[in-house]
Amino acid sequence: MKKSKLVIILVSCIALLAVILFVCSFFILKQAKETREEARQMAMEALDETREAEEKETVQPEETQDNTEDTQDSIIAFEDTQDNIFIIQEANIRTEPSTDAEIIETAPKSKLFKRTGISTDWSRLEYNGQTCYVSNDLISTEMPADAVNGELLENGTGDAGVTEQTAGKVVVIDPGHQGQGDSGQEPIGPGASQTKPRVSSGTSGSVSGLDEYELNLIVSLQLRTELESRGYTVYMTRETHEVSMSNKERADYAAAQGGDIFVRIHANGSEDSSVSGALTMAPSDANPFLSQDLITKSQALSQCVIDSYVAATGFNNQGVYMTDDMSGINWCSMPVTIVEMGYMSNASDDAAMADASMQANMVDGIANGIDQYFASQGSFKN
Ligand SMILES: [Zn+2]
Repeated sequence: MKKSKLVIILVSCIALLAVILFVCSFFILKQAKETREEARQMAMEALDETREAEEKETVQPEETQDNTEDTQDSIIAFEDTQDNIFIIQEANIRTEPSTDAEIIETAPKSKLFKRTGISTDWSRLEYNGQTCYVSNDLISTEMPADAVNGELLENGTGDAGVTEQTAGKVVVIDPGHQGQGDSGQEPIGPGASQTKPRVSSGTSGSVSGLDEYELNLIVSLQLRTELESRGYTVYMTRETHEVSMSNKERADYAAAQGGDIFVRIHANGSEDSSVSGALTMAPSDANPFLSQDLITKSQALSQCVIDSYVAATGFNNQGVYMTDDMSGINWCSMPVTIVEMGYMSNASDDAAMADASMQANMVDGIANGIDQYFASQGSFKN
């Protein structure tokens, strides 16, 4: 081989090696650059993640706030109202509108509350100066018609906040009968041909020795005091036994005083001494002397009074007796009821009615019924 050929081969090899080295270093450099890029990118991503994490941390309190707002939004919205409701079945009165909330008390059927707000499911109540709540499923704006003996109303039931609202309401009390009966006749109603004694002499106690007119006045005077303490204006048809006032004249007197209701206090008598219990009397739907409005309201008043009365006294509930034969009802121009407090012909009733502590219960019961009647009419205000 020639020396020049060897040189050419050697140079070519060196050149080839150089090219290879160049190419290799190019790729190595490129690789390194890519690795750096990747590392940088990873670092950036890591940084981003850290930032995101930091952002999340700073955002978190806002999210918490949002949650709080959501919770507040879910708190029940109450529309303000001003009315009265009755418990229609035993109901838990709670501190918050939730079945998880603390129970303030378990209210009995027929109990009256002042309502200040209403939502879909709950009513907000004002009770003993406290705001509380009851489920709408357990209440009504009308007194339960089937409230019966034994479901005791607490004394002063519902009079929190009611007292001021009763101001302006006029109750006329008629202590039935008088010292001397008057057998003179008067028509039993406007335009009636049928007549009855102006005022009968009433019954008398089988064991108490009281005459009915005496018991009626004793209870009526206490009822006046109780009603006045609840904010009512009260008039009495009589305050002594020495009067001469027919049943029609008593109804006329009630009208002249501008009464809102006329409450006639009597005690019952029966030939059967075993008969006991209380009842109220109201005009029937067929009463020819009174408007349908007066009839309906008199029946409502009678129902409220008898239910509250037997709840407070434990007397047998003989319910509302419908009659169109009572002059003092038929001549009336306002809602009226006759309360037959019990049977003086029954030893147990008679002794109970003559007892001062029972009289306090009787008076409370009648007054509660009057409160509930006005509440059931939707408003205490004229
Ligand atoms: Zn009587």
